Amino acid sequence: MQTHFSLAQLADPATRESEQILRNCVHCGFCTATCPTYVLLGDERDSPRGRIYLIKEMLEGGGPPDPATVTHIDRCLSCLSCMTTCPSGVHYMHLVDHGRAYVQAHYRRPAAERALRALLAAVLPRPGLFRLAMRGASLARLGRGLLPRGGALAARLRAMLELAPEALPPAQAMPGGSVFPAEGPRRRRVALLAGCVQQTLAPQINAATIRLLTRHGCEVVVPDGLGCCGALVHHLGREADAHAAARANVRALRRAEAAGAFDALLVNASGCGTMLKDYGFLLREDPELAGAAADLAARTRDISEFCAAGAAAGLDLSAARAPRPLRVAYHAACSLQHGQKVIAAPRRLLADAGFELREIAEGHLCCGSAGTYNILQPELAGRLRDRKAGHVGRTGADVLATGNIGCLTQLAPVLEMPAVHTVELLDWATGGPVPAGLELVAGPLAAAG
Ligand code: SF4
Ligand code: SF4
Repeated sequence: MQTHFSLAQLADPATRESEQILRNCVHCGFCTATCPTYVLLGDERDSPRGRIYLIKEMLEGGGPPDPATVTHIDRCLSCLSCMTTCPSGVHYMHLVDHGRAYVQAHYRRPAAERALRALLAAVLPRPGLFRLAMRGASLARLGRGLLPRGGALAARLRAMLELAPEALPPAQAMPGGSVFPAEGPRRRRVALLAGCVQQTLAPQINAATIRLLTRHGCEVVVPDGLGCCGALVHHLGREADAHAAARANVRALRRAEAAGAFDALLVNASGCGTMLKDYGFLLREDPELAGAAADLAARTRDISEFCAAGAAAGLDLSAARAPRPLRVAYHAACSLQHGQKVIAAPRRLLADAGFELREIAEGHLCCGSAGTYNILQPELAGRLRDRKAGHVGRTGADVLATGNIGCLTQLAPVLEMPAVHTVELLDWATGGPVPAGLELVAGPLAAAG
């Protein structure tokens, strides 16, 4: 695609990067068919190709973007399905990230929307605050019927309340600096990102991860100061906040490694993994931390990726055996399949353990979770969720497994089967407890078997 940036514009490193990305797009349109918002809305401006053009116009034009451009950028899920499809290697993720940051810096949203976005950015990355907010939301759910039917803000507030669980699981303290020793001889030493939202909504995921790893000879360290990856604020266009989170995490890992290097930084929320793997790019201009950020990114692994590496990762799961015959619908989170290109590993681990895998139709399409998307774009997110849930139901599976807390939160309330993290099944298959929600599924099957 031809671009028309001035030399002054190209002096900005972010614009220079975006110009290169724009030039790679040949406008072929292959990406449109696999874009969830184009599939739903059929509007070119809600396709990757359309958004690429809108972002180009916005960046070239300078000044405040027009409201329509903002609407179409906002509707993008950052699911990155378009990057999987694109034959020209267009790095849409970096382009739309720049677009969002540009909008945040140059566009004044209505006051209520600014307040909602600021609230999300302040609360979601802080587990203590998030826990308090979830408690409040659980109570406020009772009054959600009082919210007015119409209006974007009411719809967003309703979406927020509906996503809040009726009751939170008991907190499982995992203070920074916690060390979980390997059972038997230590073969690997790994750092684990404990996460922010996940440790409040589903602490059993970290617990299962730690059991699985320590059982297989890994010492697991939760580094002090390793906090939110920054993805949630990054997707809101809050570039400075995302950079601050990335810098804090790079420094935290460096401090923790003073006591000995880690073999890997493991992540069990794939949205966070995609973000951490991009730290090298995010902090590329940082004179102090660029190298350390690139190093952190290179050593970041999704938990399924690490486990599937088997002997190479010092972790042998070949003895894993499904305790019960179970049909598993594996939902590939966008951040894992499109963002990290980790596609075969989780499926192979589950199949090798003896679970019967059921493929979900339209597996490339997002479930509508996408960070804060299901709050900010509740109508589209709801349509994608229901479409996904329908496909999941038609697999005839007993349980849904996925590798991202966002997808679990989005899908679990509307599925007629339990939904668990992949790692919970692997933990169970190697001696761990039955994952919560599977007791009833496991019981009758056990009797039949
Ligand atoms: S598939 Fe790639 S090159 Fe073709 S329009 Fe989409 S982004 Fe551009
Ligand atoms: S990231 Fe997803 S929603 Fe956004 S343009 Fe690409 S395919 Fe469409």
